[in-house]
Amino acid sequence: MGKFVLGAKRPLIIAGPCSAETREQTVETAMQLARSGRVDVIRAGVWKPRTLPGTFEGIGEPGLEWLNEVKAETGLPIAVEVANRAHVECALRHGVDILWIGARTTVSPFAVQEIAESLHGNTDVTVLIKNPMVPDINLWAGAVSRLVKEGVPVENIGLIHRGFSYFGRSKYRNPPMWHMIFEMRSRYPDMMMICDPSHICGCRPLLYGISQQAADLCYDGLIIESHIDPDKAWSDASQQLTPQDCITMIDNVMWRAKTATDPEYTSELNLCRQQIDQIDAELFELLSQRMKTSEKIGRIKKANNVAILQSNRWEDICRRMLSLTRGMGLSEEFVRTVLEAIHIESISRQNEVMNKQK
Ligand code: PEP
Ligand code: MN
Repeated sequence: MGKFVLGAKRPLIIAGPCSAETREQTVETAMQLARSGRVDVIRAGVWKPRTLPGTFEGIGEPGLEWLNEVKAETGLPIAVEVANRAHVECALRHGVDILWIGARTTVSPFAVQEIAESLHGNTDVTVLIKNPMVPDINLWAGAVSRLVKEGVPVENIGLIHRGFSYFGRSKYRNPPMWHMIFEMRSRYPDMMMICDPSHICGCRPLLYGISQQAADLCYDGLIIESHIDPDKAWSDASQQLTPQDCITMIDNVMWRAKTATDPEYTSELNLCRQQIDQIDAELFELLSQRMKTSEKIGRIKKANNVAILQSNRWEDICRRMLSLTRGMGLSEEFVRTVLEAIHIESISRQNEVMNKQK
């Protein structure tokens, strides 16, 4: 089999178990996925960075032998996670085509640097970098730079969006925070962006929705966890799909073209874009007026030596706007987010006014 070329196929579909557990589980899962003809790369973790010690930490080198059996049998390239120099050297010795840096590793510049240095000079292997656990774009971009600086060709590097750790309540295991991805994509417009619905969702029912959303947002592929007997998996049992369900899901995702040349499409789109530009200009004109009114309030409060934050008033504003916007097709979450952003700016304007030296 020749060198795996990142970008040669779009969408790129990577699937396989969270962890290689036994020879039978690895080979059987991979064979069922491969037979469908819908999967381009087989994945499996052989070194597992687990949040809690005492859980299954990976089978190690024997897993690479099973993956090589899969590769020989199916002709598909194989992908594993690496977290240090020993992993990289071992994976390369076993002819692994794609290495990925996990979310717990991308957060550590020391670990990423060690991986980058141990790859020095290798122009064959593909490296996919998962987003760091924390929503910090610079950590992610820093990992790309470290690899490039150590000589990994930029065309051999891809990105995986697996969601971000979040302290609040969420239906997702790692909420996607799509805006972070838009930022990363604007920094690396030509770099493959692959969605990992399994680690975003953490459970089966949400997988299709996230995968379709990734396709709608023009991602370049998916990496999905699949296991012959998901409920009995030694890691990430609740999010893995049987090979059959995985293939059905892949078949149901509709991929969109990056763009179209049809003149009707172009003119309809341009018209909507002009409307959006006009509405945005009006929105910000109104916001500017609102901030000027906030400053005026600041001056009135200052003259009367009254505190800026009047929590009753803030609660009234929220209540009033939530009731006014009901039926406008805006989600409550969106209305609250916008109001909070306006409120923060408004308080900072009043703060400036009140503390200005005469
Ligand atoms: C994995 O892919 O199995 C994995 C451990 O992912 P992440 O680094 O995204 O948690
Ligand atoms: Mn996993």
